[in-house]
Amino acid sequence: MRLSTMFVPTRKEDPADAEVVSHKLLVRGGYIRMLARGIYSFLPLGWRSVRKIEAVVREEMNRAGAQEVHLPAVQPSELWEESGRWTDYGPELLRFEDRKGGEFCFGPTHEEVITDLVRGDIKSYKQLPLNLYQIQTKFRDEIRPRFGLMRGREFVMKDAYSFDTDLEAAESSYDAMFDAYERICNRLGFDFRAVEADTGNIGGSRSHEFQVLAETGEDEIVSCPECGYAANVERAEIGVEAGERDGAEMVEMSTVDTPEARTIEEISSFLDRPAEQIVKTLIYKTDDTKVAVLLRGDHQANPIKIADFLREKLDLEVTSLEMATDAEIKEVTNAPVGFAGPIEIDIPIVADLSVEAMSNFVVGANKADTHHVDVNHGRDFDVTAVGDLRLAGAGDTCAQCGGIFESHRGIEVGHVFLLGDKYSQSMEANYLDTNGKHQPMQMGCYGIGITRILAAVVEQNHDDDGIIWPMPIAPYQVLLTVLHTDNDDVMQAADAIYEGLKEQGVEVVMDDRDTGIGSKFKDSDLIGIPLRLTLGSRGIGNGQVEMKWRDSDEQFDVPVDEVVDRVASEVAARMEKH
Ligand code: ATP
Ligand code: MG
Repeated sequence: MRLSTMFVPTRKEDPADAEVVSHKLLVRGGYIRMLARGIYSFLPLGWRSVRKIEAVVREEMNRAGAQEVHLPAVQPSELWEESGRWTDYGPELLRFEDRKGGEFCFGPTHEEVITDLVRGDIKSYKQLPLNLYQIQTKFRDEIRPRFGLMRGREFVMKDAYSFDTDLEAAESSYDAMFDAYERICNRLGFDFRAVEADTGNIGGSRSHEFQVLAETGEDEIVSCPECGYAANVERAEIGVEAGERDGAEMVEMSTVDTPEARTIEEISSFLDRPAEQIVKTLIYKTDDTKVAVLLRGDHQANPIKIADFLREKLDLEVTSLEMATDAEIKEVTNAPVGFAGPIEIDIPIVADLSVEAMSNFVVGANKADTHHVDVNHGRDFDVTAVGDLRLAGAGDTCAQCGGIFESHRGIEVGHVFLLGDKYSQSMEANYLDTNGKHQPMQMGCYGIGITRILAAVVEQNHDDDGIIWPMPIAPYQVLLTVLHTDNDDVMQAADAIYEGLKEQGVEVVMDDRDTGIGSKFKDSDLIGIPLRLTLGSRGIGNGQVEMKWRDSDEQFDVPVDEVVDRVASEVAARMEKH
C-alpha cells in the first residue's frame, strides 16, 4: 500500500487519559481510536496486526485439534439462570431487553452457550472428546476500564471449550491447550511465564495464567529460580515452617499511648519499632460471623487464601469475603479503626504463619489511641488457627523447594482452566458411558485476549520513539521511505522496488507522502515497521538504498538491483525464527 492513500492518522500528542506506553503509541501511531470508555475502533494498521495475532492463535488451536465455531454474541438470560450466573456475575454483565421484554446479555464469555450447544447434540461417549473454539468480540462492563486495549470493555477474545468423558481425559485436553498457549506466546516473541493461578469461585482443580512480563502489568507473580515454580501471588504457596518462634525471650507486656497512630507506618515511627515487629489485626466478614486475621506489619493479606482457610479449617460459610466496615470494626473492637488487636476480642482469631514465629510484638489495644507492646501469642492471647494467609512476594521461601522467590509484574494474556463438571452438572450436559449410564461431561475452558495481546506486544517492544514490532505481527514487514517524491528517477526506482517486493510476497508499505523528511522518519519510528528502506536523490545517484532494522541503530547501503532479493530473504529468515 501507499501511505499517501492510506488511513494512518498519526499524532504528535499522547491521549490525555493514557497511562501506559502501549495506549499512547497505539493511538499516536494511528492504530486505534477510542469511541467510548473502554471501547475502541481498530484502524487499518491496527486491524492488520490483530488479524495476524488471530492467525497465529488459530493455527495453534487447529494444530491442537480444536475446531473453530462462531457463537452468538447476544445470549438469552435463561441459559445464565440455569448456570446460576445471571445473579452471580454481577454488574460486569451487560444486560438488555428485546422489544418483547425478553432478557439478554452481551456475552462476556461463552460457557453457557457452548454447554447448551454441546448438550443438544452430544449424547454418547463415542462423540467425545470435543474441543470447540471461536474468536469473537466480548463485552464486560469493567468497573475500571483503563490502559487502552489492556483492560477494555469491548475486546476480542479467543475462547475454547473442551468436553471429555472423565477427569483424566479432561486433564489431557487441558495439557494440549497449555502446550498450544506456550507455542503461541513463543511465536509472538513474548518474555512470559505460565503461572499457577487461583481457581476462584469456579472451584476447578487446575488453572494457569500466561503472564507477559511488564512493569505495567496489573498482576503480580512470583517465580522460583531454583525449581521453576511460578504462580500468581494470590496463589503462590509460601514455605514457612509452622510452630517455630524466633527464639527471643518473652518480655513483659505493656500498654502505651499512640495518639493518632493508626497505620503500620505511623505506629512504626511513633514507637520506633520496625514493621516486622508489629502485628496488624484485620477484621473480615464471613456469611454469618466476623474473624480477626493477624499479619506481620509488612505483609499483605491474601483474601483468596484467607477465604479458603476459613472454609476448610474453621468450617465457616464464606460466599464472598469482605473487610468489615468502620462501623462493624467499632462494634467488634469497641475502638475506632486503626486500633484493633487480638487481646480480649470475642471473635475467632486466625494468624499467618509468619506471626507464629514472632515474639514481643506490637498490637492494637482495642482502645482509641492505644497499643500493646511486647505481646506474645499463647501467653497474652490464643490463636484459633494458623495458616498461609498472605500474598507471596520477592524474598519469600518457595514451598516446593526452599528456594527464594523473585517477583515480577505481568499482563495476563491467557488463562486455561479445568472446569470439571461445574457447568455440565448445573446445565445437565450428560453423555451415555460404555455401560449406558448418564454421566456429566468434564469440561475445560481456555481464553486468550487477542486485543490485549496487541497492547502487551507494544509494552514489551518499544523505545522512546515508538513501537518495534516483532516480524510476525507487524502490520507490514517493510516500510519503503521515499525522501524526494518530486524526483522522477527516485519515484521510478521506488516503484520498481515496491513492485519487486510485492512480487516476492513481502508485505511492503511505501511512504510516498509529500511531507518533510523529518516527519517521515518520525512516523517510521513511531509506527514501528521492522525494516525500513530509504530512497532519496543522493542514493539514486550512487545506486544505493539505505536499509535499517527498527530494532537496531545500524544502517547500511545495499545496491538498488540487489535490494529486493536481499530484503525478501532477510524478512523470510525473521519470519521463520518465530
Ligand atoms: P482479568 O483478571 O485481567 O480481568 P480475567 O481472569 O477476567 O482477566 P478471563 O475471563 O480468563 O480473564 O478471560 C480470558 C482472557 O481475556 C484474559 O486472559 C485476557 O487476556 C482477556 N481479557 C479479559 N478481560 C479483558 C479486558 N477487560 N480487556 C481486554 N482483554 C481482556
Ligand atoms: Mg476480569
